[in-house]
Amino acid sequence: MTTPYTSTQDLTHFINGRLMAATSGRRQAVYNPTTGAVARQVQLASQDDVNAVVAAAQAAFPAWADAPPLRRARVMFKFLELVNAHKEQFAAMLTAEHGKVFTDALGEVARGIDIIEFACGAPQLLKGDFTEQVSTGMDNWTLRQPLGVVAGITPFNFPFMVPMWMAPLAIITGNAFILKPSERDPSPSLLIAELFKQAGLPDGIFNVLQGDKVAVDGLLNHPDVKALSFVGSTPIAQYIYATGAANGKRVQALGGAKNHMVVMPDADIEQTVDALIGAAYGSAGERCMAISVAVLVGDVADKIVPKLAERARTLKIKNGMELDAEMGPIVTREARDRIEGYIGIGVEEGASLLVDGRGHKVTGYENGFFTGGTLFDHVTPAMRIYKEEIFGPVLACVRVADFAAAVQLVNDHEYGNGVACYTSDGNVAREFARRVQVGMVGINVPIPVPMAWHGFGGWKKSLFGDMHAYGEEGVRFYTKQKSIMQRWPASVAKGAEFVMPTSS
Ligand code: NAD
Repeated sequence: MTTPYTSTQDLTHFINGRLMAATSGRRQAVYNPTTGAVARQVQLASQDDVNAVVAAAQAAFPAWADAPPLRRARVMFKFLELVNAHKEQFAAMLTAEHGKVFTDALGEVARGIDIIEFACGAPQLLKGDFTEQVSTGMDNWTLRQPLGVVAGITPFNFPFMVPMWMAPLAIITGNAFILKPSERDPSPSLLIAELFKQAGLPDGIFNVLQGDKVAVDGLLNHPDVKALSFVGSTPIAQYIYATGAANGKRVQALGGAKNHMVVMPDADIEQTVDALIGAAYGSAGERCMAISVAVLVGDVADKIVPKLAERARTLKIKNGMELDAEMGPIVTREARDRIEGYIGIGVEEGASLLVDGRGHKVTGYENGFFTGGTLFDHVTPAMRIYKEEIFGPVLACVRVADFAAAVQLVNDHEYGNGVACYTSDGNVAREFARRVQVGMVGINVPIPVPMAWHGFGGWKKSLFGDMHAYGEEGVRFYTKQKSIMQRWPASVAKGAEFVMPTSS
């Protein structure tokens, strides 16, 4: 078994290449959700700390922006090597603070590494376009330049992977980056900072600002922060988008989700049950791509629901450091209580509660923030447990008559992050992918998180802004285009030109 992460040290900022204590005197407890005990404290930023981190990043930016992309890429290659050497250490931190099982935490780290690998292609990613002879003796080309100081505000549920959606691309494109991690699981942010430093990244190019709303508002209102990437819940995403845009910043703000899986009568039943169980209860449902609604078409419900109930009842819920654990605890006591509150609401609303996870206890961890897997059948679109994001291990089954009703149901939902369709009919699959109003679609793939070079993003209330995270859209987000037209004295016609120049 890998060594559990047990540091008791306070988590501070990392500014200009050094750990730095917060000046606010404010601290917040970071819990181990498996034991329910306070494990360490995170210091929370003041406005002065925000000013200090932005000033450090701003001072470091010009030299880094001037560095050749190949040199930036070499730092990223070294960082990649170091992250690979620390995979288990990162994963143990995730299990210790988030609660997700260690094997799943390793998967999160691997998906973050994919994006570091993509960012190592900096010279290729930053190649511009060139047109020779747009007019006689004149050429025109476009290139992309960095924005300056950019910030990333990240959620608790992927404390390694989501910062990796942002920082590697922001950095290889020549920006100075400030990470404001979730205050619930901030430890990975400081290991990331240390490894960037060891990789040779100049001080001030990757910084960590620990904190809460004070830190976020400080970044949103600081004139030297040029762009903000946010991933978190929809109300905060909407606030970040509106405030950032009002302050003239570029913003991409990824929000919450309610992901559906449509199961057609011709789907492979065993594969579908495996997919639903893993996607609904993996990471205790605390994934923005978790499946929380099973849309059961025609007579498939009667074949699937009993099998789902059996599997949900027998999930291996344990300390995530145990390698056969399938589900760990919920991140905080408040989150666990919120989830269990929704189960009560579902019962009051008249849904059939087939498996009730409330009050689940794990022997030896009686104070841990555990809840069991929960399964509802006969959920209807009017119910709150259908409409709202629960963000826990609660799967709602909705029965519909046919394919058209299933697509309509998905399209009517206010969220549009991910969706899946299980079928063995190619035409149904094709029509589904074309018609569904959701940003990421899986055909017989339950959690279709796009690969590093394709970019990640939902539709509707799951994303505010017009560019997806990472991939080529990520490169575009962190750069601005410049167009240059050039000619040399020998090809310049004599005399002033008073008419709109055209190609000649
Ligand atoms: P959250 O919105 O509570 O917090 C996200 C970040 O915003 C944190 O860094 C937090 O410190 C900050 N924040 C919280 N309240 C704030 C406020 N009032 N003002 C300013 N900043 C504030 O989200 P969370 O609970 O950490 O994460 C879970 C949510 O994130 C879920 O809704 C999930 O669907 C979503 N999520 C979405 C994606 C995606 O790609 N769309 C990915 C991961 C998580």
